[in-house]
Amino acid sequence: MTDNIRVAMGTIVCKCCGKQIDSVATKKVVVYYSTCKQQQCIDQVSLLNDNKSKVLSY
Ligand SMILES: [Zn+2]
Repeated sequence: MTDNIRVAMGTIVCKCCGKQIDSVATKKVVVYYSTCKQQQCIDQVSLLNDNKSKVLSY
């Protein structure tokens, strides 16, 4: 009675460069956004976070 269970692939994509980082088995097709380990992407994310906290502190 488990024939109806279908496994889909969730894709993890870097939100900075759009590169596929990894994929996971999920119940439906879904895209997760994360950051890959490239230095340029790590820098970009920390810059964004800095800007955000600056805006919030006004
Ligand atoms: Zn990246």
